[in-house]
Amino acid sequence: MAANSAAMAPMAPGIETGAFSMNESNEKANAGGGGVDRTPAGGGGVAGVWYRDGRVLLTLRAAGIPYAGQWCFPGGGMEAGEDEVTALKREWREELGTAIEPVRRAGEVWIRNARGRFPLHYYFVTGDDEAFRPNPNEVAEVRWVPVEQIADLPDLLTSNRNIWASLGPDPRAACEAGCVRPAERTGGDWRAQLGEQMASLRAQGLQRSLRVVDSPIGRTVRVDGQDLLNFAGNDYLGLAADPRVIAAAQQGLERWGWGAAGSRLICGHTRAHADLEAALARFKRAEAAIVLPSGYTANLAVIRTLAGSGDVVLLDKLNHASLIDAAASSGADVRVFPHRHYEKLERLLARYADARRRLIVTDSVFSMDGDLADLAQLAALKRQYDAILVVDEAHAGGVLGPGGRGVAALQGVAGEVDVCVGTLSKALGGVGGFIAGPRVLIKAVVNLARPLIFTTAIPAAACEAARRALELVEAEPWRREKVLSLAERLRDQLRQQGWDVGASASPIVPVMAGAVERAVALSAGLREQGCFVPAVRPPAVPPGGARLRISLTANHEPADVDVLVNALQRTAGTRS
Ligand code: PMP
Repeated sequence: MAANSAAMAPMAPGIETGAFSMNESNEKANAGGGGVDRTPAGGGGVAGVWYRDGRVLLTLRAAGIPYAGQWCFPGGGMEAGEDEVTALKREWREELGTAIEPVRRAGEVWIRNARGRFPLHYYFVTGDDEAFRPNPNEVAEVRWVPVEQIADLPDLLTSNRNIWASLGPDPRAACEAGCVRPAERTGGDWRAQLGEQMASLRAQGLQRSLRVVDSPIGRTVRVDGQDLLNFAGNDYLGLAADPRVIAAAQQGLERWGWGAAGSRLICGHTRAHADLEAALARFKRAEAAIVLPSGYTANLAVIRTLAGSGDVVLLDKLNHASLIDAAASSGADVRVFPHRHYEKLERLLARYADARRRLIVTDSVFSMDGDLADLAQLAALKRQYDAILVVDEAHAGGVLGPGGRGVAALQGVAGEVDVCVGTLSKALGGVGGFIAGPRVLIKAVVNLARPLIFTTAIPAAACEAARRALELVEAEPWRREKVLSLAERLRDQLRQQGWDVGASASPIVPVMAGAVERAVALSAGLREQGCFVPAVRPPAVPPGGARLRISLTANHEPADVDVLVNALQRTAGTRS
């Protein structure tokens, strides 16, 4: 019954000398921010890419050999000094057993995005480019080629999430439209360029469009005129349209009116905001909490308050985009460690022992995989290396752990998490985000965080609704118990049918499809059968990692899960 096996097989391993195409294993190995990655994945592929004078140096990785990645960091504050170069050399020597001397910075490729124009800095080895001689056991082949000859340069770049962050929402399109270009190439017809970008996205099956929803979000949803069983979104506890939450919002509207009319520091801090913040602090067992307009801005606010020049932010590769954007715009050094690869994280912590602050930043539930961080390990590393542990519990709040207090509580380390970020937009079914932590941090956010200071507060009515939803989280534990048991049922059934659901341990259950076309076809087939399950494509997931993202809610019934699994089997049978 392994209906998915053929179409989901990874691309053939090995070195694709002709096309320079990136493959899945390279994506795994090619940790954002570079580094030595000992991912055991067997395939070869492009190991590194370096640029100089309009030419690109590609090193092709032999199958099964550890890889020395490129060190390239977009954005300000990333320029390496001598210390970095020295550390880099040491790391390469220690980890590869190869002396690579000297390492120096080179390359002037510029990336442009809405925030401006940024240099990408590349490091390559030896004083003489042409004499570059990597360890033959490590790198199978080295080529210098003109940039224009590399058809899938965007693939290489989009595999690096640091670069994604600088390129904005459509990095591939940005690359293809020529945003990666020498410094002197500027100007042009921006309308035509945008048109080309969109055409290119369309050609790759990556164009997105907005769907019109004509019903409240519930077990079923009316999308573009069709009633569907709903497996999209993040309303895990089914509170987005709960009558009691709606009533709280309505009463809030009566009492406070609609708009907040100003930022929190001007006139947007009502009693409703204050009460909600007190309730959130109690819920998280934190000294204090502060509400922001969204989880996205909460992440921007907290990272940019804690980190700046002289600090380092260490990110799990699969962290949410808001954390990546926050780090990239903080002015701190940013390093990305492979997903849950805490040995690599430890090496980075050791390397940055002299930084003013070391921030370890992780999602607790990863949004596209539904798996969990090991916060106990991270807490131990934080203690050992005197770091600050920032955990984004957006998908865990209300769902996991005792009282729905999150993964940190589930894993018994809530007291060791320095700062928790959450949202009001997922299990609480509303809108807004929050930061919970020490009082002094919350004070600093109020005083320093531009994402709080320069934006209008969420309506007081939204705060009243969130506070009611939080009461329901505490009063109705059956909701989280039910959604977690439905998720287990779903994973069991999918695994029995031969689907790869990764390491999901939450109401988010991915069904790995690999190719974009396959994910899109599965999603379309499910829709024909009455199930609404979005396909998730790059850049929301790494290239080669397209998937269905199924999310369950307490509003579902076991029979709904069975309907979905059967529909998926039928779809795979007809479309694979
Ligand atoms: N963090 C994570 C892990 C998320 O998945 C999301 C949203 N998907 C956010 C933060 C942002 O939250 P919000 O939608 O409230 O802006």
